Amino acid sequence: MSEKRLDVLAVTAHPDDAELICGGTLIRCVDKGYRVGALELTGGESGSRGNALRRAREAEAAAEVMGLAVRESLELPDAQLVDTVENRVKLAEAIRRLGPRVLILHNNESWRHPDHGVAMNLGRAAAFLAGLKMIPGEGYLQRPEKILYCQAYT
Ligand SMILES: [Zn+2]
Repeated sequence: MSEKRLDVLAVTAHPDDAELICGGTLIRCVDKGYRVGALELTGGESGSRGNALRRAREAEAAAEVMGLAVRESLELPDAQLVDTVENRVKLAEAIRRLGPRVLILHNNESWRHPDHGVAMNLGRAAAFLAGLKMIPGEGYLQRPEKILYCQAYT
C-alpha cells in the first residue's frame, strides 16, 4: 500500500482551484518525482461559467497534463460548503486513504468565495482527525507531516 501513498495532496473547494492557486507547485513536485494528487470538495456545479460536467472534464484533462496520480471530488454542495463534523470525517477518510505527507490548502485570506475559507478550515480539522483511531476507514493512520497554505486572492 505504501507505494500508492501520495507525497502531496491539494485539497480545494472547486475544480480549477488547484490549478489556479498552486498548479505550478504541483507540476514542479511531479517533475521532481513526487506522487501528487488533487481533491476538490465540491463539483463546482453552482459556478456562473460552465457546468459540473464540463468542469469535471476540464479537471480530468488538467490532471493528465499536470501528471497527477489522483484527482477526486467529495461532491459536497458547491456554494453551500459548511464546516460540519460529517464533512470533516468525509475528508479525514479521504486523507487517510490517500496518505499525503504534505497537504496544500487555501489560505486564511481566501474568503472571496465563502467555500474557500471553509475548505481551509475543513482541511485543517480533517488533517488532525485523520490521525485518530476513532475515524473510520482504511489507509494511513497518521496526519500529514506538513500543511502548506496557498497565497492567492481568490
Ligand atoms: Zn474556487
